[in-house]
Amino acid sequence: MTQVACAHIPKAIAAPRAQLCEACGATSSLRLCTECGHVGCCESQQSHGRRHALGEGHPVIKSLPLAKSSFTWCYTCDRYV
Ligand SMILES: [Zn+2]
Ligand SMILES: [Zn+2]
Ligand SMILES: [Zn+2]
Repeated sequence: MTQVACAHIPKAIAAPRAQLCEACGATSSLRLCTECGHVGCCESQQSHGRRHALGEGHPVIKSLPLAKSSFTWCYTCDRYV
C-alpha cells in the first residue's frame, strides 16, 4: 500500500523559539511546531504541544532536540510523516 505524502509539512521547518514548554515549563520530551516554532510538552505530560497543534491549526510537530532520531508527526494525517 502506497501512502500519499503528508501535505502539511512546511517547506521550511521553524526554529524552536523556546527551550522549554511555553505553557508549563516542562523541559523533557518537547515537541516543536514546525509551522511557527512553538514548543510544547508531549502527550505523556500536559500535552501542550498537541493542544497548540490542534488549537492553531499547525498539525505537524517534531520531537526535540532536533536530531537524526527526531520523529515528525502530523495530527491531520494522524501518523508519523
Ligand atoms: Zn499531514
Ligand atoms: Zn506543557
Ligand atoms: Zn504553531
